Amino acid sequence: MEKKNRTFQELAPYLDRYMAYHTAINIMDWDANTTAPEEASEYTARAAGILSQERFTALINPQVKEIMQNLDEDGLDTVQKAILRRLKKEFEKSEAVPANEMGEFTELTSRSTNAWQKAKKEQDFSLYAPYLEKVIAYKKKLGGYSRKDGSRLYDALLDGYEESFHIEDLDRFFDKLKKEIIPLLRRIEEAEEIDDSFFYLDYDIEKQKEFNRYLAEYMGFDFKRGVIAESEHPFTTGWHNHDVRITTHYYKNNLPSAILSTIHEGGHALYEQGISDAFTQTLVGEGASCAMHESQSRFYENIIGRSEAFWEPLYPKLTEMFPEQLGQVSLRQFVRALNKVKADLIRTESDELTYCLHIMVRYELEKKMVEEEIPVEELPKLWNQKYEEYLGVKPGNDAEGIMQDVHWSMGDIGYFPSYALGNAFAAQIYHTMKKELPVDELLRQGKISEITAYLREHIHQYGASREPRELLKALTGEEFNADYYIDYLKEKFTQVYGL
Ligand code: ZN
Repeated sequence: MEKKNRTFQELAPYLDRYMAYHTAINIMDWDANTTAPEEASEYTARAAGILSQERFTALINPQVKEIMQNLDEDGLDTVQKAILRRLKKEFEKSEAVPANEMGEFTELTSRSTNAWQKAKKEQDFSLYAPYLEKVIAYKKKLGGYSRKDGSRLYDALLDGYEESFHIEDLDRFFDKLKKEIIPLLRRIEEAEEIDDSFFYLDYDIEKQKEFNRYLAEYMGFDFKRGVIAESEHPFTTGWHNHDVRITTHYYKNNLPSAILSTIHEGGHALYEQGISDAFTQTLVGEGASCAMHESQSRFYENIIGRSEAFWEPLYPKLTEMFPEQLGQVSLRQFVRALNKVKADLIRTESDELTYCLHIMVRYELEKKMVEEEIPVEELPKLWNQKYEEYLGVKPGNDAEGIMQDVHWSMGDIGYFPSYALGNAFAAQIYHTMKKELPVDELLRQGKISEITAYLREHIHQYGASREPRELLKALTGEEFNADYYIDYLKEKFTQVYGL
């Protein structure tokens, strides 16, 4: 056999070029979502489309393939190995699908997203149905390419978002959720309602901005390596650990909305900023996966950010800024209100307890779309039935029902479960963390940095150089186990409602 004589250094120019395009596209995207004027969008999107083609071919080309095939892998260090593993995966993914079909699919989803927008506005599912039907069919075709022998088609789609998590894991997870959380929800509905009316008084936006900036700083958000701006829907983006950007959205008559999104996006940001410099501007210089990312944001938002210990050192500052609105509200009342449960129609506005039930509806529908031949016209009815059965609410129209999320129109079928997995990862991590750190005590003393340092040591620093399952096992000593999440919810909400 011929000796492999290519070196990793020969890949460097290609990788650098890829990262340069990647940075440019992300900056354009950030700009489009925060400061660009309204009429710029179409033109910027065209330019970004061209750059994203360039980004693709910068990496996926015959030269890179040849170097990879003849690469002497013996002397590679751990960073290079991680990058190479990722690069191989990118090749596998792109080679699995004929190039023209990828282009066709992108075009289809762009048309279908437009149709979705219009249909949602006019509350008319029939305008969207033919597009959704095509998207589902195309997605099934694409899933067929990556499907492994003997596995199910929906598994192939799930794998595209959260590697190595399958129907088997999710069925077990949601079955348990259904059995344990729905009865708990019914009991809560019979308990006395929590008063949170003080959240919806007038809260000056400039003052809210000041508090949210303080909050981000308090959490440890590094402003030398990050920016906070405003956008319609809060999000986090970043191209490496020295440039991480988050947004929030302020409402005059809703105080917790901006606060909780700052904590949520702040959690994503701490993850990105905590990645090791060894991975900066490389293929593995980002979070390990969607679910792992979401586990960090939700850990900060829900597990910590809605706890009394977290608010103990912060609440005096907040009441000082809003004495008229909060002067008569005790810390305990404030935190209780943050944990109010109210089953409702819209996923993005849901509370911590009911959130995963929203995901369960989508999961069950996705499975049907992909695994059974169900006519799209029947989906809204199924959606409504499930909302009534699990959440006890019924959408008045399809805009607040099946058309509320953009995901399916964009072809993201199989993505929703990663949100639920993120919550479950967070609870499993928390379970172990509590054995090793006095979490509440640290929070009461304002030492949140010690909690972040723990996550940095076990999760953040590795970026995408390790798989989520590997990170979870190394930290918790066991495989993924959703029981911790169910137990966490039961314990917490039984206590909040004094059941
Ligand atoms: Zn998030």
